[in-house]
This record gives sequence, structure tokens and C-alpha cells, in this order.
Amino acid sequence: MMESTWRSRNVERHRKTARTSYRRNLQYQRERSSEQYYKNRDAILEKRRLDRIADPEKYRSYRLNNIENRRKCSRQWRQAHLVECRVRYKQWVESNRETRRLSMRRGSASRRARKCLAFIEIVDPLIIYVRDKGVCGICHRRVSCEAFHVDHIVPLVKGGKHSYENTQLTHPRCNLLKGIKIEC
Ligand SMILES: [Zn+2]
Repeated sequence: MMESTWRSRNVERHRKTARTSYRRNLQYQRERSSEQYYKNRDAILEKRRLDRIADPEKYRSYRLNNIENRRKCSRQWRQAHLVECRVRYKQWVESNRETRRLSMRRGSASRRARKCLAFIEIVDPLIIYVRDKGVCGICHRRVSCEAFHVDHIVPLVKGGKHSYENTQLTHPRCNLLKGIKIEC
């Protein structure tokens, strides 16, 4: 009680002392707050999730304004937790095989296209699958959604573009056979 009245009479002074002591014990403070964070991680993340839903605009602008800082922080964190990162990534891959397969595929097609300077747009294999109604563009038979290829109708090396217009759904086998024919 006493303390709080002293505080209320000396707000500025109290603030200053608190700030100095915080700075003096920065390492300790950081450890303590990270300890607190890990202890209440689920609750904190849940609260953030709710805040995000309540005011998405605020969250977005914060993200945009702090993009450099966030990148720096996560880079530092990754460097300090290399092993943990690798383990987590492996776990993530294990439980998200399908997502990862698709994103790797999207990335590698774009990279190939960029190399040939034919990059037009990001082509999503699933959209092509749906658009072509699951039918192979070469042999016109049904293709399984488990294993399919996205073929460039005019090959990239022949100046074709990496775009929805120049792609078709094919069987992996049909696509590879076509590739061999073109190379010959
Ligand atoms: Zn086919």
C-alpha cells in the first residue's frame, strides 16, 4: 500500500528506475520473459490467435511494418537453435507430406521456367488437375490425383511459357515419353 502511494506520487522517477534496472539486467530479463513465454506458450498463442481474428487489419499492418525485424529475429533464432529447427522441420514434413510435395513441385517448376526466362505466373498443379478434369492431355485417359505431371505444351526450352495457357495435365509416363521424343 505504502509503496503504491509512493509510486503514484513519483511516477516519472519510478519509471526511470525501472527502466534503468531493466536495462542493467537485460540478459536476466530476457531469460525470464522467454521462460514465462515457454511456460504459458499455449495460452499466449491462443490469445494472439483470437486477437488476430478480432482485428486482422491491425495484425497485418504490424507484420508489414516489422517485416525486417521479424526476419532478423527468426534468422537469429534459427542460428541459435539449428538442431531443434531441423528436428521440427522433419516432424512438419512427416505430418504434411502432401502439402510439401505440392509446394516443392510448384517451386521447382517455377525455377525451371525462370531459368528459361519463360516465367509468366505461378502455376498451381491442383488447379490444372481440376481444370483438365483429371484427363491426360496426351492420351486422353483418366489420371490419378496421386501421381500426375503438369506438362508444358510448348516446352520451355523451345520458348514455351510457364503459364496456365501453356500447361496441361498428363500421366507421368506420357509426359516423360513426350520429353524423350522432343529431345530426339
Ligand atoms: Zn496419358
